[in-house]
Amino acid sequence: MNAGMAGLSDEAIEQAERFLVGRGWDLADVDDEGLAAVYPASLRGADPNSPRLSFLDIGISRLFCIVTPQMIAEIDPCGVINGCRSHRSGPLVRIPWNDRDHVETTLGRHERHARTLDRASLAECLIFGECSTRNFTLENP
Ligand SMILES: [Zn+2]
Repeated sequence: MNAGMAGLSDEAIEQAERFLVGRGWDLADVDDEGLAAVYPASLRGADPNSPRLSFLDIGISRLFCIVTPQMIAEIDPCGVINGCRSHRSGPLVRIPWNDRDHVETTLGRHERHARTLDRASLAECLIFGECSTRNFTLENP
């Protein structure tokens, strides 16, 4: 966290927070890069930090949105970060934040996708399928 001069205006932060929280999002961070929010209903509200593993450990990303100081919404879809065609999280979607109809339609589509993504199919692919071979790179701890 580093609220700086180069970031969004207080008014823009307040507006973006009100809009996103009103749609069920949680504020994640506000800094020079903008306002970041996460959609907690992703993967049917699964806990991203269970005691045994975290989503990031296994390469899963919830739906994220960053509103940049240039007033661009960067929407990072829910899915496997380097997954197969059916499960991968990308590509990043960039649209003008002030184009409210476009933002609502696009967020609505990605929120629905994040909520309804088939967890069983994703989990199986992540362990036994194409997501597994694409997603994991072995690194020394
Ligand atoms: Zn897959």
